[in-house]
Amino acid sequence: MTTKQFKAESKRLLDLVINSIYTNKEIFLRELISNASDAIDKSYYRSLVDENVSFNKEDFYIRITADTENRTLTIFDTGIGMTEEELENNLGTIAKSGSFAFKNENELKEGVDIIGQFGVGFYSAFMVSDLVTVKSLALNSDKAYKWESKGVEGYTIESCEKEDVGTEVILKIKQDTEDEKYGEFLDEYKIKSLIKKYSDFIKYPIKMMVKKSKLKEGSDKDYEDYFEDETLNSMVPIWRKNKNELKPEDYEQFYMDKHFGYEKPLKTIHASVEGVTSYNTLLFIPARTPYDFYTKEFQKGLELYSNGVLIMEKCADLLPDYFGFVQGLVDSADLSLNISRELLQHDRQLKFIAKKIKDKIKSELLLMMKNDREKYNEFYENFGRQLKYGVYSDFGMNKDVLKELLMFYSSTEKKLVSLDEYISRMKDEQKFIYYASGESIEKIDKLPQTELVKDKGFEILYFTDDVDEFAIKILVKYNEKEFKSVSSKDLGFESDNKESDKETEDNKELFDFMKEVLKDKVKEVKASKRLKTHPVCLASSGELSIEMEKVLNMMPESQNIKADKILEINTNHEMFNAVKQAFTEDKDKLKMISNVLYNQALLIEGLSVDDPVQFANDVCSLIR
Ligand code: ADP
Ligand code: MG
Repeated sequence: MTTKQFKAESKRLLDLVINSIYTNKEIFLRELISNASDAIDKSYYRSLVDENVSFNKEDFYIRITADTENRTLTIFDTGIGMTEEELENNLGTIAKSGSFAFKNENELKEGVDIIGQFGVGFYSAFMVSDLVTVKSLALNSDKAYKWESKGVEGYTIESCEKEDVGTEVILKIKQDTEDEKYGEFLDEYKIKSLIKKYSDFIKYPIKMMVKKSKLKEGSDKDYEDYFEDETLNSMVPIWRKNKNELKPEDYEQFYMDKHFGYEKPLKTIHASVEGVTSYNTLLFIPARTPYDFYTKEFQKGLELYSNGVLIMEKCADLLPDYFGFVQGLVDSADLSLNISRELLQHDRQLKFIAKKIKDKIKSELLLMMKNDREKYNEFYENFGRQLKYGVYSDFGMNKDVLKELLMFYSSTEKKLVSLDEYISRMKDEQKFIYYASGESIEKIDKLPQTELVKDKGFEILYFTDDVDEFAIKILVKYNEKEFKSVSSKDLGFESDNKESDKETEDNKELFDFMKEVLKDKVKEVKASKRLKTHPVCLASSGELSIEMEKVLNMMPESQNIKADKILEINTNHEMFNAVKQAFTEDKDKLKMISNVLYNQALLIEGLSVDDPVQFANDVCSLIR
């Protein structure tokens, strides 16, 4: 018997697999079980097209046998089997698709994780085994053959004894090393958990004789071991079942079994899509923010299955960052399990599915917003921030996907409202969507800058999250309506503008003097028409608001960023008489007053006073 050499490209892959730095060796079992399942599929197909072949469901199964004494693990199937020629062609060469050729060796090495994710098929057996034996009897054949290989050196094929049609893959498990305990693959518990993890939804039963113990007959305390045949996989995945066969509890149980979360999900989305690329998906929106959600450790992603076989635990490409909180899985028969098929096309299909999933999540959230506001509020409390970040990040690339999902607290409704709802309530003469930023709703409510807008009867959105104003600056408009901060220089009230312009003109020298005192701290001092009862406030004239200044300066490497501030004086306030008097009679006093008013305005904004001691002294001097 001569030893044959593997085809060159197979040898290269085999070499890579055996010497792979890749740590996820356990996937070999998934690969071999998938091959067994494929082989049974082929028998089933033959029974459909060939009336001489019968398909009796009970006759089709996969069996795992672990022999710890001889250190062998056997994967046995009753599938279609392989002839001598097929053993030669299928196991001596990487699947003939040739797609492997487009990857040169260097590329492949970089893609080590691709191998892990998509499997290396049959050759993965060599990650855990130093002698692989395949015995097979093909359907409609009367001779069985044995293929055997110790790895890169090559393989042998000879005839052998085998009664039933099907294939048996026998792995001589490698000796344990310091780093790698190969022996665990012979452990019953380990095998069970690997099958649950990767192959739970294989259509055919995966059986194993499992050790149990029972009371000895006639004894009430002595136990004895016995073996019982057990099916280790559940076979029909919940997501392949019909929706109306399933109760909410089924989904909840699955959610918990999968450790997606510890309490019931807020929302379950189960969809089955038929088309050019068909897939099933089961998605969950958690009821609460995962504890590590806003940390670097958090990994978004969905489980990815190909025909019920897990090929990736967290496929990040299936979810955009802003929906990163969604848990669940996608199963598509159109994705291939094996690297030896067309990866490029694969990628395109994945993108297609990802887009569909994104659209689906969005439409479900919109429905929840419209039909079950209480639930949406709960959702928003946990993940609203994430949506707002989504609007802001990537230069606003996703703002149009997300804008309808946003909500902010309303000054008139006293609850969270959507932008559509705000617009539906806008007055005829109202040009802008007004907002005010601050630390809390209570604090914003007291801001002097809100007075005039409220007085006009216009609704104001309160921004209390750091990200709010940044997100809105990226949006610029919603349904043609521009956003406007109540602190911005021009609120868009023509008549009021004219009036305050006139006041500013009339007191020009006084305001110039104050500006001179305050120097660079403010860009301008002017009369305000936005103020009703309060004496002063700050407005911002540039793109950067005072709230944004605060947020930016809280960041680790901030560079002391300053918004352009305008000090607005309420010329109708009685304090202004004292200001005017000081201007004519006591310029030193006016200097003090200017500083005190400016500092007051800072305090109202929640900014700190530059020199608190000076401020306190000034106040005392004025009281005297
Ligand atoms: P793939 O499954 O993607 O084709 P593999 O490397 O996993 O690639 O397997 C190579 C080929 O070997 C399969 O296509 C199949 O024809 C054959 N094969 C492997 N395992 C079995 C089995 N248990 N029964 C029948 N044929 C098998
Ligand atoms: Mg395979």
